[in-house]
Amino acid sequence: MAAILKFLTTIVAINFFLNPLFGKDIKEIRATVKGNLYKIILYLERPLRYKPRLFSDLGRHILVLKLRNKETFFKDFYSVSIISEKDCVIFFFKNPKLELKRTKVFLNKESVIVSVPITKRKASKYVIVIDAGHGGKDPGATYFGVREKDINFSVARKLFKLLSKDPRFEVYLTRKGDYFVSLADRQLFTTKVKADLFISIHTNADPKTSKRRGVSFYILSDRGLEEKLRDLMKNSKERRKFINLFPKPDRALLRETIKGMLLYNQLGGERFALTLRNLWCKYLSKYIPCGGIYKRAFAVLKTPGVPSVLIELGFMTNRRDLKLLTSQKFQERVAEVIYRAVRLFFQ
Ligand SMILES: [Zn+2]
Repeated sequence: MAAILKFLTTIVAINFFLNPLFGKDIKEIRATVKGNLYKIILYLERPLRYKPRLFSDLGRHILVLKLRNKETFFKDFYSVSIISEKDCVIFFFKNPKLELKRTKVFLNKESVIVSVPITKRKASKYVIVIDAGHGGKDPGATYFGVREKDINFSVARKLFKLLSKDPRFEVYLTRKGDYFVSLADRQLFTTKVKADLFISIHTNADPKTSKRRGVSFYILSDRGLEEKLRDLMKNSKERRKFINLFPKPDRALLRETIKGMLLYNQLGGERFALTLRNLWCKYLSKYIPCGGIYKRAFAVLKTPGVPSVLIELGFMTNRRDLKLLTSQKFQERVAEVIYRAVRLFFQ
């Protein structure tokens, strides 16, 4: 039964990415490059009677177009991901060569064109944040004399080395040694460096049975999304750490923007988790069995606007898993598979 459920989850998710459900007003979206302009064209069901307004948070590479729309959808292009909420369409730009501050919006009869100039600046990089779970006074799980924080950090560092050698990526670790970093500081750091992807590395344990084995993947749950949305809507000081739209939007638009940013964590995270899980099943399941993708309200998965995934590499309470997890050679293999997933994710 569990296997069937996992299979269904995978299929549903893939379909969702291939066939986004557009809202009533938008029937299709295309992105094209014409000369030195990057154009996103939203084809409408019927002509608009109002001019859609544009809001921006340039620090976060986000534009928000106030445009009435009835359903949520997600569409991913090479340089931009688009999520719609009830009354707006949110653009997440992943190509730093696009000059967002010179964006213009044109209204045609049955389309809205968002036109962004492309600069001749040297291509910037995708920003990846690697988060080694626990650290310092917080050892995580401890079994057979092994501390979780050490496994997590060792794998994180190997992944850091692989990604750093690749000129397409700018890579950061949330901790560079064995010291304590709070969950809130990990989120703030991820926001500050304008991450395009957040990968948290942990190791599992089941005190009740030594038989349990396997890797598992976690993405933001709906409950986690609602919690973060509620927290940020309540606390403006906290909110400003994650989003600053200009001009100042009304509360309803602000709420929908933050919701869209959190959906982006969830959907982008799901896409990365699917990619990573496929590679693990193919290359590593003969060592540590392949597990499922689960939704959780973990704090580190809640950074608005950053696709986020947490991996539990295997069970420290199982001797076979633990032996592999403490082997440098196996850790190298894990880092290699995550690195390949990152490359595929940004392809
Ligand atoms: Zn942990």
